[in-house]
Amino acid sequence: MANIYDQAYFGEQLIPFKDANLSVASSAILYGLSVYTVFHVAHTPDGMLAFRLPEHFERLQNSAKIIGLEPPTGQWDYEAFLNAAKELMKANQPTRDVFVRASLHAEALLSGTRSRGVKTVFSMFVYDADPIVPRDGARLKTSLWRRIPDIAIPSRAKVNGAYVNSVLARQDAIDSGYDDCIFLDSSGHVCELSAANIFMVRKGVLYTPDTFTDLLEGINRLSIIQLAQDNGIKVVERSIDLTELYIADEVFMSGTSAFLSPVVEVDARPLTAEKSITERLGRLHHDVLHGQAPAYADWLTKLA
Ligand code: PMP
Repeated sequence: MANIYDQAYFGEQLIPFKDANLSVASSAILYGLSVYTVFHVAHTPDGMLAFRLPEHFERLQNSAKIIGLEPPTGQWDYEAFLNAAKELMKANQPTRDVFVRASLHAEALLSGTRSRGVKTVFSMFVYDADPIVPRDGARLKTSLWRRIPDIAIPSRAKVNGAYVNSVLARQDAIDSGYDDCIFLDSSGHVCELSAANIFMVRKGVLYTPDTFTDLLEGINRLSIIQLAQDNGIKVVERSIDLTELYIADEVFMSGTSAFLSPVVEVDARPLTAEKSITERLGRLHHDVLHGQAPAYADWLTKLA
């Protein structure tokens, strides 16, 4: 398990992480009724730099809006979110790259299966930024479990309860000796991984499933599309057949906890050794996260 730092933000104050707890009778526990986001904070000579913080805040707001959860004060406030993240860095003083998980939880007790008007609480905690997949090449297995469709539990909303779907599919992949799963959507098209988006390269063009494919609209996915376009790589968002992955020139994944990582095998079919676009975008993505790409400095927010 990744190291979790001692101080957490819970209910508008910093408290010891071990005391940042919810009741077993809360809707967060009973129904998985929390929304969340995880963002990367790089430890750099210029300070602790958070990647795309306003976008993470906006996605958290949107997730809550979709589910019908409201923040404790009834008002969303980016300044308060930013200050909480700054206070967390000051209190924990990380000396390496970290992730911050920010959530809005339904903390009301026995409030039944509803969301609007249910009492909520914010939490934020910090943990070491260890990747969730091997960075030198992941092996993926197509899951028998399909991605939950937008008309059941929307993947566009990052809601905790929906992650049972990811757990089922990833555990099945691990049980079969793979690193992670590939989800297909209900129409059988390639969707995403358990906690990362997917890209493939065919004949120099970068393809990724479009946002009608029941995927989470990853903040890294959008960033990589822009990085590719800015570097003269053509990007197409469209439906992808599974067998296209088998014969792709390159496949990679993107996500906060997956970074930009190459895929070397899909369903017992090794991919080609070609990795030039993956490596090029991977280096750029790393530099952007760590404040080493001046053109993208405005994607970073200094927290300490
Ligand atoms: N898909 C799913 C299901 C995820 O959980 C994540 C991780 N948040 C992603 C994609 C990647 O999203 P992001 O780039 O915003 O981390």
